[in-house]
This record gives sequence, C-alpha cells and structure tokens, in this order.
Amino acid sequence: MMFYSTRNHALRAPLEQAVLEGLAGDGGLFLPETITPFSLDEVKQISRGTFQEIGAAVAGRLLSGSLEAETIRDMAIRAFPFDAVLVPLSEDLAVHELFHGPTLAFKDFGARFLAQLVGHFAARADRTITVLVATSGDTGGAVAAGFYRTPGVRVALLYPQGRVSPLQEKQLTSFGENIHAFEVRGSFDDCQALVKKAFSDIELRSRLTLTSANSINIARLVPQSFYYFSAYGKLGCPSGVSFAVPSGNFGNITAGILAKRLGLPVTQLIAGTNRNDTVPRYLESGSYQPAESMLTISNAMDVGNPSNIERLDTLHGGSIDELRRSISSVRFDDEETKVLMRELHETYGYLAEPHTAIAYGAARLLDRKGKDVPRVFLSTAHPIKFSEVIQETLHLSVPIPAELADLLKRDKLAQRIDPRYETFREALISLP
Ligand SMILES: *Cc1c(COP(=O)(O)O)cnc(C)c1O
Repeated sequence: MMFYSTRNHALRAPLEQAVLEGLAGDGGLFLPETITPFSLDEVKQISRGTFQEIGAAVAGRLLSGSLEAETIRDMAIRAFPFDAVLVPLSEDLAVHELFHGPTLAFKDFGARFLAQLVGHFAARADRTITVLVATSGDTGGAVAAGFYRTPGVRVALLYPQGRVSPLQEKQLTSFGENIHAFEVRGSFDDCQALVKKAFSDIELRSRLTLTSANSINIARLVPQSFYYFSAYGKLGCPSGVSFAVPSGNFGNITAGILAKRLGLPVTQLIAGTNRNDTVPRYLESGSYQPAESMLTISNAMDVGNPSNIERLDTLHGGSIDELRRSISSVRFDDEETKVLMRELHETYGYLAEPHTAIAYGAARLLDRKGKDVPRVFLSTAHPIKFSEVIQETLHLSVPIPAELADLLKRDKLAQRIDPRYETFREALISLP
C-alpha cells in the first residue's frame, strides 16, 4: 500500500515514510491509495471477532503489502489488550465507550497503534527513534502510555508548567524509563515552538531520528476505524448502523468514513461539535471559514481549523455536495451540552462527560429506523476526566477508578526547563 498526499495525488509515500514524517512533503495529509471493500459477509465475520482480530483484519486491508499479515496481527494484539464497550440505552440507541484504555480516553487507540508501528520501524532498521510531542493535556498522556517500554523508541514530551490538570500531569510524568517529560516554564505555544524548531534543526536531525506523534498521523487514523466494526459486531450485525461522533479535528469521523469505504453498512454519520462550529458552517454555506478556537467545557474539541478537513474534502473528490451526502454536522453550546448531560442522566441513568453528551445530542438527530438500523454515539472520555463539570451540572461526584488511584500515588519525574531552544536541544542530545 502506498499513501498519497491530500494536496497532490501523485505525491506518494510508503508506510514507513508516511508514519515517520507524519505530513507529506507538500504539507498535505496522507491517505491510503486504495481502499478495497470487504464483502458484507466478510464484514460480518470480521466484526464478530475480538477487538484484536478486528484490528488485524482491518489494518491488514488498509496496510496490505506494507507489512506482513503476521506482523500486523502481533501489533494489534500488543496495542489492544482492552476493548471498547457497547452500552445499550434503548432498543435503537447505544453508546460505544472508547475510554477503557490505559489513559481512559479514546486517544489511546491511535497512540498505541502508532507506537507499535514506530517501534517496528526502529527495530527493523536497528536504530533509536526519538518522538517529540508538545501537549496541552490528553494526547501526551496517551502517547506516553502507548510508547512506554517500546524498544528502540524514546519520547520527549513537553507540557506547559501549571497549565495541565494534576491528573494529566501524573499521566505525563509518572512513567520514566524511555518517557522523558519536560515541564516548560511557558505556554503550550512555547512548547510547540520548541518542537518545531527541533524539527527544522538540520544539524540536530543528522544526529537524531526525530518523529512526531501528531494527531494527523495516518497511523493514528487507521486504528480508529476498528471500533466502528466492533460496534456493528456487538449489535449483532444489523442491516445498517448510524454513528454520531463528537468532533474537534475530525479524525474520528474520518475513520468512520474509512470504515464505510471498507464495506461496513453505515447508514448515516453525524459529527457533533461545540461552539467551534467551522465544519457545520462549512456544510451549510459551502464555504470553508476557519476561526480562532474558543474555550468550551468540551475542550478536547476546541478546534477552529480542523486539520482533517483536507482528508474529508479529498475523500469526497473535493465536492461539497458529496461531502454533504456522506456526513452531516451540528453544534451545541455549553448550556445545551449541560442540558444533554442532564437528559442522558435523567432519561437513561447514564453519566456522561461533555464530549459524549454532544455526541448524544447529535445522535438524537439521526433518522430513527428502529432496531434494524440502531443509532450509536461514541463516548470519547471517561467521566472522571471531566469530573468538575459533572459535579457542577449533575451535582454528582464521580468515583475515582482504581487505575487512576494508583497513578495518583506515583512520583512525578520531569525536567523543568525554560522555553529556550538551546536548553531544550542540549537536553535532547543528552537523553539516555
Ligand atoms: C480528541 C478528542 C475528541 C475529538 O476527536 P477528533 O478526532 O479530533 O475529532 C473528542 N473527545 C475527546 C475526549 C477527545 O480527546
């Protein structure tokens, strides 16, 4: 399989280059060159498998020819020792919980599969690969957990001092070994600037093999298509299934489109956003107008210029009408989100954090066709991660899951640095 750039179909890269470089040379995003659909019988058979089996089959198709089937299977087994959990709420409505990974967030799916691929490329070439990540919270934790103890790979994580939650900080700093946390006396933008500078430092790059674990990496997109199949299988392979997806950078819903192109009988797809409604506005007006991002209570979706819009456009031949036939999108502000959280709790006894509540709000707008075409909304974070909003909205406190209780007891291991490039560069060079 080759991967092509969304900006130029003729610019192609093999898997290793697409994964290690992240972005195409022309600034575009990578997509698999061919997506050969499974037959419906194959889809049903695959979807009834374990999550690891689904991963092996779906990645086997999307990465075919790039890696041995056996290698892909081993990666799926190592990456996913956990499953997504489907919780039925009514005859035709269910929530698919994607937060049962080690950091209790759906970013675990992408980060762990990426770690497997990068680890494979490091081993194959017998070299050390250094992953650089600037994080404002969740992504960094998933990356740290995903790459922890991956041979041949070390991770440098930069986060802004005092600007991540105590829980997030623990997730970034308590690993040690091949995970190196840098607590930067500055902002998230300072962290990003340091990472950017390192990537453009030719002398440094002659010494170290650098890669990013950026959310636009094709290796993070591929595994996100697995849980669409797994929801379908858990529902007993009905005649169709519709999904509502809480969206920020629109990677998650793009993976839903990949699943559909692979033959999954997806009836409708709807993306829910918060006030950062660039995509709903785009679908309505046909003109793409990115905006500054605004702070909301569903802050993992505070994105004013979603990077995957390029993939969405390219997958639909650049036609807004085709895109409109493929997905719809709706926005909810913070007050509406809180109403949705209350409604979920009062009607179904289901405790949801704000991103999940937005997905529920979007699911209510899907056509109701009964249990032959159930509606599934994706839950992207464990309620504990947004316990303050839940406390404020529902007047309930979320019990701390056992995994986190352990985490909170661990020591913080971080190197505190000023946002000066020379300091960071020295630190990188002297990493063990
Ligand atoms: C990242 C994230 C999202 C948004 O996913 P995209 O793929 O960027 O659309 C939604 N919810 C949570 C909790 C997230 O961390």
